[in-house]
Amino acid sequence: AHEGILRRQSLRESAARTYARSLPIVPVRARGLTIEGADGRRYLDCLSGAGTLALGHNHPVVLEAIKKVLDSGAPLHVLDLATPVKDAFTTELFATLPRPLAEDARIQFCGPAGTDAVEAALKLVRTATGRSGLLAFTGAYHGMTAGALEASGGATDVRVTRLPFPHDYRCPFGIGGERGAELAARWTESLLDDSKSGVPTPAAMILEPVQGEGGVIPAPDEWLRRMRALTAARSIPLIADEVQTGVGRTGTFWGVEHSQVVPDVMVLSKAIGGSLPLAVVVYRSDLDAWPPGAHAGTFRGNQLAMAAGAATLAHVRENALAERAGTLGARMLASLQGLAAAHPCIGDVRGRGLMIGVELVEPDSMAPDAVVPPPAPRLAAAVQQECLHRGLIVELGGRRAGVVRLLPPLTLTDEQAVAVLDRFADALAAAER
Ligand code: PMP
Repeated sequence: AHEGILRRQSLRESAARTYARSLPIVPVRARGLTIEGADGRRYLDCLSGAGTLALGHNHPVVLEAIKKVLDSGAPLHVLDLATPVKDAFTTELFATLPRPLAEDARIQFCGPAGTDAVEAALKLVRTATGRSGLLAFTGAYHGMTAGALEASGGATDVRVTRLPFPHDYRCPFGIGGERGAELAARWTESLLDDSKSGVPTPAAMILEPVQGEGGVIPAPDEWLRRMRALTAARSIPLIADEVQTGVGRTGTFWGVEHSQVVPDVMVLSKAIGGSLPLAVVVYRSDLDAWPPGAHAGTFRGNQLAMAAGAATLAHVRENALAERAGTLGARMLASLQGLAAAHPCIGDVRGRGLMIGVELVEPDSMAPDAVVPPPAPRLAAAVQQECLHRGLIVELGGRRAGVVRLLPPLTLTDEQAVAVLDRFADALAAAER
């Protein structure tokens, strides 16, 4: 069955999805950290639906919440009507939002994916400000639909001004420090304030508190505070794309909380649906310039996803799983840094909470004027395959896919963390040979 399914799917489906190709697994059962394939093999899943599975696969509280809706006879499809399930989800979500946004927030259900919520956020700020430009960052990832793509790194839409995202490892001046944050802020301010720069006041600045697909690059707190201050001073809405950093992943409930920055707009998806598709945009009510009908959609606020999501949010909050992700993640980072000391091919280990990246490089091919060695995408792909052979699923990301990413569920136990790190170390040693 396993081989037949893989063969038929590889003939029928486009090669566009990379990780589906690089992970020849046919999952038939899953629980917590573990996925079981049709061939009977078991894997530790540190991809977690690209960070979606805050509680791992099929967590009992999530399954119970879904079953409860199914057994209640509630309609599964309600367009955008008010329901008890939606009410419970929204109440739980608002209880987690950073203050003062929580006291004065509007929510718009979008759907079903993160990219839909990004689109909604961009449309909202353009309507609210009457402006069209955007400030977005190198290496950003916001999704695969037109507006989200345009805001993502590498795109070249004329309305987007691309600013450098601070990256300590690649910056000769260590821009993550206070001084770097100040320089970045001054430079951005001069772009916005000098009429000769050709950058009109934008509709928003959009950023990820930790770039995920871009290679797990945490925004330095001081830099984020500077971005907040300079956008606030110019009435430029700040959009935090917390699609991947949300729901405890980085060690705080939302990624922006490390810096105490309160954005004007938050884009949320992935873990808020507790394994099922759900996406919302939450924003300051005075930005709500939308007349009735301005933002519609057939599949907004799926009942099962809202129930699964509310159960997930409550479980993360009640069990302090964000703090748990913070302490366990710090220990895993330290262990990986130890590994880096013995392996020159590990250029950098970074992350926050259980959002961890190991950047693989080619130390022997360093150009004389370079700050750091070039990325090693072939080695990264080999490490991913060696991990797979050892029953560990990891994802790649970053510039030229040279970063191995670990996004285990927040329910990861100490023993599981050790197993993940052991398998990773073995895989690295094998790939280097
Ligand atoms: N924003 C961020 C920060 C993401 O990480 C992703 C998905 N990896 C998206 C937006 C897009 O979400 P989706 O794939 O659900 O459209």
